[in-house]
Amino acid sequence: MSRHSVLPTRISSKQVLSIVVPVFNERAMLPVFLERVLPILDSLTVATQLVFVDDGSEDGSANYISSFLARRSGIRLVKLTRNFGKEAALTAGLEHATGDAVVVIDADLQDPPELIPTMVEAWQSGSDVVLMQRRSRHGESLPKRLSAHLFYRLLNRTSRTNIPVDTGDFRLMSRRAVDALMSLGERNRYMKGLFAWIGMPTTVLPYDRAPRAAGVSKWDYPRLIGLALEGLTSFSTSPLRWATGVGLLAASMGALFGLWIVVKATLLGDVTNGYPSLVAIITFLGGIQLLSIGIVGEYVGKTYVETKQRPIYLTEDVMESVQAGARPNTLNPEPYRHASSN
Ligand code: UDP
Ligand code: MG
Repeated sequence: MSRHSVLPTRISSKQVLSIVVPVFNERAMLPVFLERVLPILDSLTVATQLVFVDDGSEDGSANYISSFLARRSGIRLVKLTRNFGKEAALTAGLEHATGDAVVVIDADLQDPPELIPTMVEAWQSGSDVVLMQRRSRHGESLPKRLSAHLFYRLLNRTSRTNIPVDTGDFRLMSRRAVDALMSLGERNRYMKGLFAWIGMPTTVLPYDRAPRAAGVSKWDYPRLIGLALEGLTSFSTSPLRWATGVGLLAASMGALFGLWIVVKATLLGDVTNGYPSLVAIITFLGGIQLLSIGIVGEYVGKTYVETKQRPIYLTEDVMESVQAGARPNTLNPEPYRHASSN
């Protein structure tokens, strides 16, 4: 990736914590979010920088944030040209965050901001990654909880990277960890996997996930299934092996069955029956073949997307609070290049 966050030239030695917030149609949430987060940030011993990424909201979220810029220092708004999805928005936020550590938090207050001081403590005592692990999932339906549970288990069975169970994007990362993450150049941003891939000293803190305070979740089942498929195929090639295995099994069963028919025909004469079983076998094998082609297709598609080398997101605008005196405002402006999207 060509665009790296540049470390600010330090005026004082005070450390800076960046808070990255992806925002997609969260106009109803933003005032509540700021009201709850700002006092917490002010209570910290480190300086703070709030990085909002507007992921193509259509409800005036970006306008609300930009109007807030005049009122408070240390806020940066990265406006994307359209909705690129949460994973891309997070990447944008991490690239535009300049702090010594970065906390990623949802705008809907499902990740309690009250935990930020504890996360900062863990970071200051030497952790590069402070992972927040969900103890409960209030307000989520049983099918969602069950499918999440199964998914994490399946994912860890199939991939070599151990992706911690029940952790979301809510976490703190040191500058070192963020830079490592940004050096992973793939377009398919399966963040949970990428987060886990970098390793580094990690603290896991359990917390209770709150229900959404307002608005609706942007994840419906098709999107969640898409993310699950993405996760499985980004972090493991074993589905390809399953296809081979099932194919082998089906082929050898077919061969044995054919042999058995020959033996039976020689011993008992040519009895023409068994059409239903024939149809069943053909349908079964056809299904297996289509499934295998589908699995291979997932990977071919991934390769296709990667080879295009498109940028993960495009920025429309980057705005910064202008108020003087605040540390984050003294940052060097970054060269925000719009790479061509071919
Ligand atoms: N989000 C985003 N782009 C999207 C979807 C969601 O930036 O395309 C943001 C959203 O504004 C919120 C966070 O990602 O801050 C989590 O989204 P949501 O609450 O819908 O997901 P859930 O909590 O259900 O996983
Ligand atoms: Mg949410």
